[in-house]
Amino acid sequence: MNVLVLNCGSSTVKFQIIETDAELIRQDADRRLASGIVERIGGQALITFQSDGHPKERHAEPLRDHRAAIDRIVRWVVSRSSNIDHITSLSDIHAVGHRVVHGAERFQKSVRIDADVLEGIEDCIELAPLHNPANLKGIRSAQELLGEGVPQVAVFDTAFHASMPEESYLYAIPYQLYRRHKIRRYGFHGTSHRYIAYRYRTVHGLEPAQVDIITLHLGNGCSACGIKGGKSFTTSMGFTPLEGLVMGTRSGNIDPSLIEYLAIKEGMSISEIDTLLNKQSGLLGLSGLTGDMRELLDEEAENQDRRARLAIAIFCRRVRHYIGAYLAEMSGAQAVVFSGGIGENSWMIRERICAGLEPLGLQLDAGRNRDLGVGREGEISADGSPLKAYVIPTNEELLIARDTFRVLADMPRRF
Ligand code: ADP
Repeated sequence: MNVLVLNCGSSTVKFQIIETDAELIRQDADRRLASGIVERIGGQALITFQSDGHPKERHAEPLRDHRAAIDRIVRWVVSRSSNIDHITSLSDIHAVGHRVVHGAERFQKSVRIDADVLEGIEDCIELAPLHNPANLKGIRSAQELLGEGVPQVAVFDTAFHASMPEESYLYAIPYQLYRRHKIRRYGFHGTSHRYIAYRYRTVHGLEPAQVDIITLHLGNGCSACGIKGGKSFTTSMGFTPLEGLVMGTRSGNIDPSLIEYLAIKEGMSISEIDTLLNKQSGLLGLSGLTGDMRELLDEEAENQDRRARLAIAIFCRRVRHYIGAYLAEMSGAQAVVFSGGIGENSWMIRERICAGLEPLGLQLDAGRNRDLGVGREGEISADGSPLKAYVIPTNEELLIARDTFRVLADMPRRF
């Protein structure tokens, strides 16, 4: 089955075409046939397309909205010039899998999209006003462009965390607010944490119930997850993706009293403060330079910039804080697993995060960590380290494609 995987953000659409089926999943031999991204939708869009084994194509053209972007993607996919194996017409796209950010309490696993599900995703807009509308645009556009005959599946960022116990997901505020407004921690990046747990289990030949690990998704957005018995037990993002770790432009945890104080001192509105905490804080706010970790590391190395160093130090310290907390909450774990753009690519950040964790049982092998290579999978802890450390590059698109196939084939999934 050729699955078009769509990940629609507010002004971007990322996609992959993945060939998968029961046998390919069993052999772990699914194939990515093509991938790409359309950025800056609404103006002069930047388009990057690549079919496997061929060079990237890049160009700019005006694209009005998500529908125009997806139309452009689909036309490229089926065109002769894309050179994609086995795909020459619309009928070669067999299904569409969508990343959907918020599924609230209603969607605890991936589902085939019908009118009822669409309404359910719309109902979640209140909880994810920035994300779900773009996901809905993607679903509707794909329906229009490919026709009702092509089945679509929604894979939710929150679903993996549906297994969290009440002790993990409730805030210590009046309980009736949970009852009345469903105010609770939902957690995000679930598809990524789930994929990392799946890879860890596969590499180690474990059953899902034998997996007790701490996964760290460190990208522009960052979250930690304590996975116990193969299920999400605790995670750092909460009601929204703002809670938890320091991120590119998000503050992560702060004292909530700051909101009133900022309103008084800076004369800011609630929505201005929301923007400040989501878009102007984190690495960007601390450094005053950039929210991009690679650029900060360069600044620190080339210019010995004090605030770049400080931002990086606070980022790493917060990650350590969560590793310690989760080891306590979970009564220990087998391994800490790094992923996401920063976790996969920066040995320096991994080294700084792991520094001083020896008393907790994590002994990094500095050489292994440095030599692993950018974007590679492997162990980075020393032989005999009681708490292991690994790098596992995430692959949310693969899981979305597999879920799409499994939901349509009515097959059970493990993780
Ligand atoms: P997103 O969360 O948007 O999917 P990514 O997972 O691609 O983003 O992560 C982006 C982050 O990863 C950026 O802060 C970027 O600087 C960082 N990053 C990517 N490569 C490196 C590297 N080699 N060294 C340090 N940071 C890196």
